[in-house]
Amino acid sequence: MERIERVAVIGAGTMGRQIALQIARHGVPVAVYDADPAALALARRAQAGTIRGWLAAGLATAEDWPADVVAAHLRYEADLGAAVRDADLVIEAVPERVELKRAVLGQLDEYCREGAILATNSSSIRISLLEDATARPGQCANFHFYNPVWDKPLVEVGGGGATTPETIAALLAFGRRIGLLPLRVRRESTGFIFNRVWRAIKKETLKVVDSGVASHEDVDRAFMTMYQTPQGPFGLMDEIGLDVVRDIEEHYARESGDPSDLPPPVLTERVARGDLGVKTGRGFYQYPDPAYKSPDFLRGGDETED
Ligand code: NAD
Repeated sequence: MERIERVAVIGAGTMGRQIALQIARHGVPVAVYDADPAALALARRAQAGTIRGWLAAGLATAEDWPADVVAAHLRYEADLGAAVRDADLVIEAVPERVELKRAVLGQLDEYCREGAILATNSSSIRISLLEDATARPGQCANFHFYNPVWDKPLVEVGGGGATTPETIAALLAFGRRIGLLPLRVRRESTGFIFNRVWRAIKKETLKVVDSGVASHEDVDRAFMTMYQTPQGPFGLMDEIGLDVVRDIEEHYARESGDPSDLPPPVLTERVARGDLGVKTGRGFYQYPDPAYKSPDFLRGGDETED
């Protein structure tokens, strides 16, 4: 692979939309496909409004977010073949389930031209568990973005036993080209680099709340105060999507076989109720104005009183 000139993104959810925007704003043509026509239509509507909204609110500059460049480089395709046929790189961003990702990669292998790279934005699944669903394991790799892509401008690049050095080099170079700092995962690892660190925080904070030791608000207050961050782990889980967090935790538990790795009821019960975080308007907090963004949040609140 000389240089990546055309990209396709599979899955137009939270991450697929962001990845496509980041690529288009850097002047690289990108096609977005989703198996659900409603999700594709929603992504198209949301993306058109996102940049306009930021510019109008003074949250972004036209130099950083040239709406005309984005519009000229971003397209939506309801047909998978049309989305990926000319792509040098396809990034899948479908839900975090091994069998689903294997099916999607197998499908992509059939539609994509020889030599095209098939990358996964999986949060935890090693490419070795997916690559043999294709006839091109050498061109399969982990290419893991963070949410939101533009505020957390890292991308982790990792291969399995079969991934060629050329594939890794092309992804490292492409990560830089689209304004991100590529981090090389030198050895296969479930959760890659930062997600392993985040995973430890997530697992422990969920247990602290699930076992009744503290409210999720107080855990976030502690975290925000200690690390001087505008958001704690529960606010961040809401942003990621609690269903996505649950799927990731279940993958870790399946890999380890350790029941203590399973996501606790404080998380799974919310998912079962359909409280998935920002995307449904309610998770650990309520949206669009979650309590942790209030200026008084760090002073404490009623929920901490007995
Ligand atoms: P999401 O649920 O918001 O979106 C997934 C999209 O995939 C949906 O629109 C769905 O219709 C579509 N889809 C499902 N099956 C499909 C198929 N067979 N073909 C095409 N499209 C299909 O999920 P998300 O939060 O965007 O996560 C996607 C991936 O990115 C997961 O692997 C997740 O672990 C990873 N990830 C998520 C975050 C995050 O903060 N949400 C961050 C980094 C990585």
